[in-house]
Amino acid sequence: MPDRALAIAAHPDDVDFGAAGTFALWAKQGWEVFYVICTRGDKGSSDPEMTPERLTILREQEQRAAARVAGAQDVLFLGLPDGGLEDTTDFRRELVRCIRRFRPRALFTSEPLPHRQRVWHRDHRITGLVACDAAFPYARDRLHFSELLAESLQPHKVADVYLWGSEEPNTFIDITQTIDVKIRALRCHVSQLNSRRDDVGQRIRERCAEAGRQIGAAYAEAFRHIEIPA
Ligand SMILES: [Zn+2]
Repeated sequence: MPDRALAIAAHPDDVDFGAAGTFALWAKQGWEVFYVICTRGDKGSSDPEMTPERLTILREQEQRAAARVAGAQDVLFLGLPDGGLEDTTDFRRELVRCIRRFRPRALFTSEPLPHRQRVWHRDHRITGLVACDAAFPYARDRLHFSELLAESLQPHKVADVYLWGSEEPNTFIDITQTIDVKIRALRCHVSQLNSRRDDVGQRIRERCAEAGRQIGAAYAEAFRHIEIPA
C-alpha cells in the first residue's frame, strides 16, 4: 500500500498556503494525499454582494480544483461554521473518524500554538490542537470513541505530524521542483485573491525562498515536525 498523507485544515486554501508544494512533490513520488477541510470558509469575503451560501459553494469548488492541481486524491468537507470551531468532544470524534478512515502515515495540520509575532486565526489554532489530540492518543486507542468500531473504523497510529504556520519550524522540505504547482493551486482560490488584491505568486516565492535558505534550496515549505513514538 502506498504511503498516505492527510491534511486537516480549518479553511479552504490553508492546505495550499501550508503544504501544497510538499504534496505535489510527494504525490509524484507515489504518495496518496487526502484533505479534510473543517469549515465552510463562508466568512472569507469582503464583497458586499457575497452571501455565505454562495461563498460556501465557490470555496468548495476552488479547493477541489486546487487539490487536483497538487495531485491530491480527494477532499472531504466537514461543513462546520467558519470562525466557529471549538475544542469539543464532537469535533475531536469527527477528526478521529477522519484519521481512522484515511489511515495516514503523516498528518499535516496547522500550528496549534498561539503566535507571538503575528496574528494567527483562532480556527487555525483550534484545528491544529484538536487534530493533534485526535492523532494522539484518541485515534490510536481502540477504547476511545469505541462507537466508531461499529462503522468498521479500526484504531490507527499516525507516525508523523507536520505543522504548517509555525513560528518555530524544525523541518524544511525542498519544493523547488513544485513551487509553480503550489502557486497554481493557490491561484485556484479566486474568491480569496480578489479580496486581497496582491500577487500571491510573488508573496509565496518570497516566503518559500526564505524557508529554502535554511537548507540551501531555492524554495522550501517550513513545518514543525513531531514524531509520535511507536
Ligand atoms: Zn485559514
